[in-house]
Amino acid sequence: MVRPIITYGDPILSKLAKPVSDFSCIEDLIQDMFDTMYEEEGIGLAANQIGIDLNLLVVDISHTEEWDESMVFANVEITDFNGESVIEEGCLSLPEIRFDVTRPEEIVLKYQDQTGKQIESEFGGLMARVLQHEIDHLNGVMMIDYLSPLQFQQYKNRLQELTNRQKEETQEQFSRGIVL
Ligand SMILES: [Zn+2]
Repeated sequence: MVRPIITYGDPILSKLAKPVSDFSCIEDLIQDMFDTMYEEEGIGLAANQIGIDLNLLVVDISHTEEWDESMVFANVEITDFNGESVIEEGCLSLPEIRFDVTRPEEIVLKYQDQTGKQIESEFGGLMARVLQHEIDHLNGVMMIDYLSPLQFQQYKNRLQELTNRQKEETQEQFSRGIVL
């Protein structure tokens, strides 16, 4: 099921996600995360981007040569990193904003798969890039947090628009009696 994307201005995007402890009941949620990500044409999605406070993210870069299957990561922790690369990023929670972000080129990641199995593995290329963007979300960090104060000024109006829109949507949900 496709769920609405939470955009900038909602506090769930600024908080540390809770660990996944019960892996027996996340199957539907993972499916919803993939459905939503494909619908919005993203290549990665963190659970808090659909309003779920869990340390869980999905990635699908199988359209590239680099990877041939979709991936699920829970309880992620970067234990090492190396190198540096600059790539232009966009974010489903920051519509119409794109800019270059500098990040490590390779990471070592400790995580659990959808069955709860503990894995430690090295990632590079686009996969490392997407993972770092989504792991930031789960730590309450967004790509605009990397902007200098001067660069931030450039996006100030757009961010204010997004904040206002998010507030209106939250009020609408309250008035309809639905709190998600
Ligand atoms: Zn994002």
